Amino acid sequence: MKCELCGVDAFISKSEMVVEGDESPDTQTKIFQRLHFQCRNKECTNFEKEIGTKDIQVY
Ligand SMILES: [Zn+2]
Repeated sequence: MKCELCGVDAFISKSEMVVEGDESPDTQTKIFQRLHFQCRNKECTNFEKEIGTKDIQVY
């Protein structure tokens, strides 16, 4: 993921596991790894701010 202000590749500041669909037996349970991205460009107003997240399905 790139920062939309400066176009520099963002880095992953943290990641967490997210589970969806485990409340009901009718829905398939899905597990995602949610990645949080931060801008690493010190010149950018987004520096060290979270610029987005991305979910990667792992199950
Ligand atoms: Zn930036």
